[in-house]
Amino acid sequence: MRGQRSLLLGPARLCLRLLLLLGYRRRCPPLLRGLVQRWRYGKVCLRSLLYNSFGGSDTAVDAAFEPIYWLVDNVIRWFGVVFVVLVIVLTGSIVAIAYLCVLPLILRTYSVPRLCWHFFYSHWNLILIVFHYYQAITTPPGYPPQGRNDIATVSICKKCIYPKPARTHHCSICNRCVLKMDHHCPWLNNCVGHYNHRYFFSFCFFMTLGCVYCSYGSWDLFREAYAAIETYQQTPPPTFSFRERITHKSLVYLWFLCSSVALALGALTIWHAVLISRGETSIERHINKKERRRLQAKGRVFRNPYNYGCLDNWKVFLGVDTGRHWLTRVLLPSSHLPHGNGMSWDPPPWVTAHSASVMAV
Ligand SMILES: [Zn+2]
Ligand SMILES: [Zn+2]
Repeated sequence: MRGQRSLLLGPARLCLRLLLLLGYRRRCPPLLRGLVQRWRYGKVCLRSLLYNSFGGSDTAVDAAFEPIYWLVDNVIRWFGVVFVVLVIVLTGSIVAIAYLCVLPLILRTYSVPRLCWHFFYSHWNLILIVFHYYQAITTPPGYPPQGRNDIATVSICKKCIYPKPARTHHCSICNRCVLKMDHHCPWLNNCVGHYNHRYFFSFCFFMTLGCVYCSYGSWDLFREAYAAIETYQQTPPPTFSFRERITHKSLVYLWFLCSSVALALGALTIWHAVLISRGETSIERHINKKERRRLQAKGRVFRNPYNYGCLDNWKVFLGVDTGRHWLTRVLLPSSHLPHGNGMSWDPPPWVTAHSASVMAV
């Protein structure tokens, strides 16, 4: 953008310099000198009107990419519901296959203790997936109050023109500021922030666990079904009934879908687990990396103020205050609220006490 402007202004500047040179030597007529002065005056006026201390190459690149950002944001906003329907339909199809195709097969072959274990584990996992997904899409991530308040803020949002508390960021898809924003998730059609971050992570974790369970558990059935499908084109053709053919294809679909989701979602879950262990969100990861490098260049060390140590970060994130909470709040569906209001970031009392005792030692 700047390059194009300099290309156009280059010849104009050259002419102006020639005119100025003539003007200094007092050879040009008064009319021309007047024109030169007006040009200078106009240039100063224009620059003063368009001056912006935040202007720079980043602003120019942002402005050039603005139509692309707008397109991506709107596509995600419009297709948000489609993604949610896709998650529900795909999950529903796996559950339907498990009940209609897998269950009749394993009822004939599995022992009673093995059947009981599969029955309890699969239903526990399914309940946690459905619960956390429902909570993640229906729980608002949390928004800072707009108007006069006494909340400590760190900056002003350039889009909302409202003060931003610490860890708050503007979501261009939701078009508002979000407390402790992690990212905007199209699969939830919702922003992931302070109030639904735990639901999002738990959904990813239990969905990965469910997909690994399905793909590992159905490996033998998948191999048999795949081998059977390969015999379909033989002569004479095998005597499989319509129901058996549907079962074969469903088992292959189940295994491929679950394995693919387990790999993709598993990688995402591990990445988020690393961030939670460090006490950072996805956005803070980039900010902290930049800050770490900046301070390192000055010979100083960056310290993340929201990092209480790996285990305490997990306890704060999951809302685990006592040992019993690992069962009632993590392994069972729980709608407890996260620590704090998402605007002030004082750690829970047990974290403060723990840090103080460590410092005393
Ligand atoms: Zn904003
Ligand atoms: Zn959003």
